[in-house]
Amino acid sequence: MMIEVGFKSKFLPILEKLVMTDKPHELDVNRVSVTEVCQCLRKSFLMRKMEKPIINKHLFEGKAIHLYIEYLLKKYQGEIESEVEYEVDLGLLCKVIMKPDVVLNDRVVEIKTTDRYKISNPIPEHVIQANFYAFVLNKPFYEIIYIRSKGNPIAFVNKPDYKLFLHLIKRIENYHKHLLEDSLPEMETKYCDRCPFYYECFHQAKLL
Ligand code: SF4
Repeated sequence: MMIEVGFKSKFLPILEKLVMTDKPHELDVNRVSVTEVCQCLRKSFLMRKMEKPIINKHLFEGKAIHLYIEYLLKKYQGEIESEVEYEVDLGLLCKVIMKPDVVLNDRVVEIKTTDRYKISNPIPEHVIQANFYAFVLNKPFYEIIYIRSKGNPIAFVNKPDYKLFLHLIKRIENYHKHLLEDSLPEMETKYCDRCPFYYECFHQAKLL
């Protein structure tokens, strides 16, 4: 629910429309975004069903960082590709939409933000995502950079793994099946932390 204070807002509806038009593929059942299948499939499904997007701080923080990096790259390193959207045909029943943050000659780079200071390993969902991009774009490496709220950025570099690639292909197929059937995907409770659909899934408010 949008909170408005005092007189009616003129800009909030414009903001909502802008965020919606920035995700056109989410309105087409035969186009699946990699980011959708790297989180709880039910959450992604429910997000597509929402009339209005959830416009919270996390959405803008992530977007702002990517736009800033894109701006800096264009200004100082124009030859480096960033934020390019690919629509790929992998022989599945749907097209796959992927948007790696940065593409270098030998790797794809994903840039994430975190409030954690100590990170000994990259988050599995980020690995699955970056691994997939590296595989499809035929790059020998992928790199995940965490921009931390305290401390300097930290990077993890690895080689793509075919089994992880296949794992995501299965998730894409499963998600697409649910979109076609208009049926709710199974719950994936490991992703429930901070999920806006907690009440819908558990019929109770989150305790913390
Ligand atoms: S509450 Fe958990 S199971 Fe339900 S949509 Fe969110 S992440 Fe998925």
